[in-house]
Amino acid sequence: MFLSVGVRFEANVEALNMVETAGNYSKHRRVPYLVEEDGKLKTVYVPALSGESLAHAYQEHLVREALGLGLSVCDDCRRNEFYKSMNKVHLKKKVNPIPDDPRDIEIAIVRSCVVEDVGGFLYAEKPPVRRSSAFQVSYALPVKSVALFATSEPQLHARHAQMDTSSKKGNASEQMIYYVETGTALYGFTFNLDLDAIGVSAITSEPILDENELKIRREAAMRALFRMLSSAQFGAKLSRFFPVGGITEVAVAVTEHPFVVTSPIYDDYIARTERRLKVLEGLGENYLFTVATGEKVPEEALKEAVDYLREQGAF
Ligand SMILES: [Zn+2]
Repeated sequence: MFLSVGVRFEANVEALNMVETAGNYSKHRRVPYLVEEDGKLKTVYVPALSGESLAHAYQEHLVREALGLGLSVCDDCRRNEFYKSMNKVHLKKKVNPIPDDPRDIEIAIVRSCVVEDVGGFLYAEKPPVRRSSAFQVSYALPVKSVALFATSEPQLHARHAQMDTSSKKGNASEQMIYYVETGTALYGFTFNLDLDAIGVSAITSEPILDENELKIRREAAMRALFRMLSSAQFGAKLSRFFPVGGITEVAVAVTEHPFVVTSPIYDDYIARTERRLKVLEGLGENYLFTVATGEKVPEEALKEAVDYLREQGAF
């Protein structure tokens, strides 16, 4: 089974993805964006969140959900340090001595860590072993029709320290001013999850785990997505720049084989996704498509997908 989710969220004054600090100025990630204005295409720079940032958040949630279900997560991933068995030092913590056969290396890693099973890894030694991530996530970008209204603006902040004259040394200042560039936009992103890839070898396409363990891991992967969207715990600087706003729309498709919802950056993405699914249905594929707009809340749509997956025997 394959799950694809289109998410639209409104975020006002957010600092979810900062890219560099120059002096006392920390900059928001921005990307070039093609928009149409008066029948002409033009490039504008808009605030964005990288897929890497969203993927990191998802994997943090996956750690928690996997541990909650009593599944194995390696020590690095437990600390949310996703080295992913990148070299001998990290792999030896899972399997020692390290096997010669890439298939045995993959089996050892997948068995000992749900995050590397679902999120993939790259062991860059001899022999190199690579496993693609079973989940995919796009950048979060402003919705096209309102992209011209997306802004990034620096906000002035000050830090204070109380110092009497005796403790003041050199140029140490009692007050430091700094700027945080914040973004404001209606964002859209896509998240896909290939449930059939979990616990299955990327080298031989054979299951590495028994059916029961596969089901629990699939459930953990779904729960992590649910929790990430429901809690809005993704991105940086949440402690003081928790975005004002929230999820405005969610469209969830569950299909037998890979199918990706039309990107939520387009205003007609729900209708287009439905039309595309109807064609698949004509070709004999079953699916579930549910959206949360207006009345329905995102959790209700996600719960429908969870129930459907359970009915279909995914977990
Ligand atoms: Zn791990």
